[in-house]
Amino acid sequence: MSDQPARRADLRVDLGAIRHNTRVLSARGRRSGAATMVVVKSDGYGHGAVPVARAALESGADCLGVASVDEALQLRTSGVRAPLLCWLHTADDDFGPAVDADVELSASSVGELDRIAAAADRRGGTARVHLKIDTGLSRNGCPPAAWPTLVERAAKAEERGWIEVAAVWSHLACADEPGHPSVDRQAERFQDAYLRARAAGLRPIRHLANSAALLTRPDLHFDLVRPGIAVYGLDPVPGVGEHDLRPAMTFRSSVVGTKRVAAGEGVSYGHRWTAPHAVTLALVPVGYADGVPRGLSGRMSVWLAGRRRPVVGRVCMDQLVVDCGDDQVHEGDEVVLFGPGDRGEPTAAEWADGLGTIHYEIVTGMYRPRVTRTV
Ligand code: PLP
Repeated sequence: MSDQPARRADLRVDLGAIRHNTRVLSARGRRSGAATMVVVKSDGYGHGAVPVARAALESGADCLGVASVDEALQLRTSGVRAPLLCWLHTADDDFGPAVDADVELSASSVGELDRIAAAADRRGGTARVHLKIDTGLSRNGCPPAAWPTLVERAAKAEERGWIEVAAVWSHLACADEPGHPSVDRQAERFQDAYLRARAAGLRPIRHLANSAALLTRPDLHFDLVRPGIAVYGLDPVPGVGEHDLRPAMTFRSSVVGTKRVAAGEGVSYGHRWTAPHAVTLALVPVGYADGVPRGLSGRMSVWLAGRRRPVVGRVCMDQLVVDCGDDQVHEGDEVVLFGPGDRGEPTAAEWADGLGTIHYEIVTGMYRPRVTRTV
């Protein structure tokens, strides 16, 4: 995984994997004539927004997407100059700095559009706006009933030079469940919204597809695809095809001590595990404060000294205990909590399965104050 010894709680991000995944995904988009927006919101899904953005842009990404204006401005401050869209605004977001920094802004309502247009007018600039239609996710996005008013207003603001309508876009609710009827229903509403925008005189591009739709629905690529999770090497539709993705994140630690305990000795808080016979235990200095879910107590393993070994007893705040049987393990030995899985180590997807959640939640939650991240 890495030649360097693992630190206490050690997150490694493989930018080679990010580059590889971006090449694979952008090639898929290109086959349909679509450009690629790599989504780096939430600190690049926990991998580091700036290094991921740079690696992706070197490897086939045309532009970037984030949720908030603050995330967009942080990228600009770090010197990332590529086209960049942000889409989730609060009532007190100031769009002026975003207009100055050439950040493209989504508008989901007349209110947002007016605020963006006013900011552009004040700054003497033109804001590039992506009009978002809610086609059925029922989150942000303009409800279809309000869409005609939004596009008419956008056409007027465009005439005055305050905005340029760059795109009509939407987001899918169930793309990770291929065949789900909502996908086609959303696509139909999306097409209606687009035609309405054209009828109002606008000439936007269209974008709809997240990672799952990029991989499973080439007919929905339109002009631009917006992969997030797949860029980080995590499969958005497990079991549906082979997509040649490489997980980029590895979480490691190292053994800080070993001890031999006799049969019948209880381990960790509550003694939820008792040694069935004499065993060697390895102590690993990471716990739930470092992102190892306590909910996986008794149901997780780590890769240590050449094979998987069970974590026994409860995961504590700062430490966990591994049953090494009669094997020799040593202080300083590397412990892989999750990684790409190619050596047989657990994966973020396995953690997610064990917790009844999704790998998105695992990787975005890993970078914490005591965790060292090397990108
Ligand atoms: N587009 C939007 C609007 C998003 O919010 C997200 C992420 O949730 C994405 C694209 C990327 O989705 P995924 O990570 O499933 O590829």
